[in-house]
Amino acid sequence: MFTVIRFYLGEDQGSLVVAVVDLNPSPQMIRDGECIMPKCLDAIIAFCCSHMMLNPLNKLAIIGCHTRQSAFLYPLPASSLELEDFRPPDGQYELFANIKNAVHANVKKLVLQSVEDEIYTESLVAGAMTMALCYIHRLRKQQIVEKKMPAKILVVSASGDSASQYMNFMNVFFTSQKEGVYIDACVIEKDSGLLQQGCDITGGMYLKIQNVPSLLQYLLWIFLPTAETRKQMILPSRVHVDYRAACFCHRNLIEIGYVCSVCLSIFCTFSPICSTCQTAFKLGPLPTIIGKKKRKQMPLRQ
Ligand SMILES: [Zn+2]
Ligand SMILES: [Zn+2]
Repeated sequence: MFTVIRFYLGEDQGSLVVAVVDLNPSPQMIRDGECIMPKCLDAIIAFCCSHMMLNPLNKLAIIGCHTRQSAFLYPLPASSLELEDFRPPDGQYELFANIKNAVHANVKKLVLQSVEDEIYTESLVAGAMTMALCYIHRLRKQQIVEKKMPAKILVVSASGDSASQYMNFMNVFFTSQKEGVYIDACVIEKDSGLLQQGCDITGGMYLKIQNVPSLLQYLLWIFLPTAETRKQMILPSRVHVDYRAACFCHRNLIEIGYVCSVCLSIFCTFSPICSTCQTAFKLGPLPTIIGKKKRKQMPLRQ
């Protein structure tokens, strides 16, 4: 028996989903010596097809990110004609076959390009999210979708935190908030404090999953409904958000630090000149003269 569940309430404007898939094979992606990435990709493709099936007005884009670059997996640019001859197997809806085929072909291309040169370990998740935001903005500006059409970015990643991209993440989060774009994050096994902050700031859902074979179930139940529909549902409660910031000097996540009173840069150690805006702080006695106890009491006096 096939049951169709109508997940959307605000009937007829559809919604736009941009899925950002982290393709970096981190240790969390290896199980019993085998990479589980293909299974995750299948789950994400099934999720994307479900989204397209919900409403004929729904729009979709999929962006893959790796250690060296990010690229659109779907839709393909108009100039790319490689997949034009592709015919779906009998009975399969052409759109779904196209999505699957485009994702498979482009993931292969992206991964092969990324492993050629030096190996960087961090995934460019923030870059891919920026591409997603630009895509949403372009569709709205060119009136391909209605301006009020709800849009969200779903990030599926297993890479954990990457403090070196702290500023890029923050720029994405605040732009999303301003544009009214929700950020959802489904992280596999390793928490990402930065994505937690993004979901909290934009009002999206953040979920860490341990059981990768159930990925599709989580995606369909928690991330498929629109923000309006979610209000009617009982979803996992919000986790405690890790609001640590990364220091600008070492990119370490810190709880207490020194803040420049001019440009609001954050530093983990005291410096008399701000390395971002070059402001020299007028101090009374030199910091070296101040005893340890006294210095502790006045970390923000600059
Ligand atoms: Zn530092
Ligand atoms: Zn400064």
